[in-house]
Amino acid sequence: MTTTSSRFAGAFLRRYVCEHVPTIRSGARSLVSSHKSLPQAQKSLNLCKSHRDPISAPRSRICRISNTPRSYCTYPPNKSRKMGKKNKGPSTPPSSSLILPAPPTSKPIVDTHTHLASTFKAYQDRYATRTADVNDLPTQGKTIETVYDFANVMYEGKAVEAIVDVWCEHTQIKSRLWKEYADAALDTPSKWGSMEYHFVIGIHPHEAKDYDDEVEAILAEAAAHPRCVGLGEMGLDYHYSLSPHDVQQAVLRRQLELAVKLNKPLTIHTREAEEGTERLLKEIVPKDHKIHIHCFTDSPEFAKRLLEWFPNLYIGVTGVVTYTTNANTAQVVRELVAEPESKLRIVLETDAPYMVPANIYDSVPAIKGKRFPVCHTAMVPWTAQFVANAITGPPPTEPAEDAATVDATEPNAWTADRVMVEARENARRLYGV
Ligand SMILES: [Zn+2]
Repeated sequence: MTTTSSRFAGAFLRRYVCEHVPTIRSGARSLVSSHKSLPQAQKSLNLCKSHRDPISAPRSRICRISNTPRSYCTYPPNKSRKMGKKNKGPSTPPSSSLILPAPPTSKPIVDTHTHLASTFKAYQDRYATRTADVNDLPTQGKTIETVYDFANVMYEGKAVEAIVDVWCEHTQIKSRLWKEYADAALDTPSKWGSMEYHFVIGIHPHEAKDYDDEVEAILAEAAAHPRCVGLGEMGLDYHYSLSPHDVQQAVLRRQLELAVKLNKPLTIHTREAEEGTERLLKEIVPKDHKIHIHCFTDSPEFAKRLLEWFPNLYIGVTGVVTYTTNANTAQVVRELVAEPESKLRIVLETDAPYMVPANIYDSVPAIKGKRFPVCHTAMVPWTAQFVANAITGPPPTEPAEDAATVDATEPNAWTADRVMVEARENARRLYGV
């Protein structure tokens, strides 16, 4: 994927904060980020600065304060937007609309890759100051003040069975917020309600330059937590190249070796770095190791080589599969099931707060053209629906609504239900969740 449509670009870019930035100043010149002290930053846990952004912002657009790509901060990409109306802009639907209507499939949801702290922060940034919206939530007297509230309100009654939360920034990892979230799952009753909370932990390639012995020691400590189901996301990202390539490779090597030593499944981030990722995986990781290539958008040939080499490797599919600018992911899915006996070796994920599935808007006509400022786990069924249509319908570059009608009465038809069930089983094989 190299670009995404402009209608999504605005929504995405406006809600990102830059890496040091919990707060956003409105007003003129505006939306400049302000740096907070490290403890404050840790406490408020900024948006995931370090993982992939669906927007390929021009590299020249650098935040003047943080010196990071604009796609990770809140500078408005479109000057025609009224800066002072960030939180009240006409494109933001009421918070109640995030409590989704009936999905295209009611099979249990397992989101194998989400950034819950970042998602909650994104939600707060958009809605926390909007009293009307808080009251708008149809939870009668229940406000969303904590991440646990967020999960319980948004996922209540949505068949969210389990999530794999991802911790990939060195400040997050050192703050040990991951332990607080994971320990909450061990409470009786769990603060997460009926949802099973699991996590993976590792240093993202953007942050490879910040990897050190202290981080590695924490990864080993975290790996022993009963809710830790893998290491990552780790990998190579030559699209943004926020850490030097040789450093990214060295840090990936160290983390791969640690995961193999601890026999932990891998969550891999790879973007425009096919040769390096393939070489290091094949060199270091045993063939039968469990591997999740998260949010896959690279070439179908690359996917094929990895799938053939590693029998326990799965392709992660996010809402990005629904974007007309990304044909690769749908093509990979189609090739996976090209033969009658072949398996749909995918797991479903959101990578929230990023990448709202584009086809979800057909199900929420009440928001009338507005766009969700945040993605969350209950949106997974719409990705499954798109995957089913991509397998059975016309080329994936066409809108979902144009896909052929699936005969759901045919026992082996690729329906959203079947995609959900098979992906759920794959999540169990991969992470034991
Ligand atoms: Zn991620």
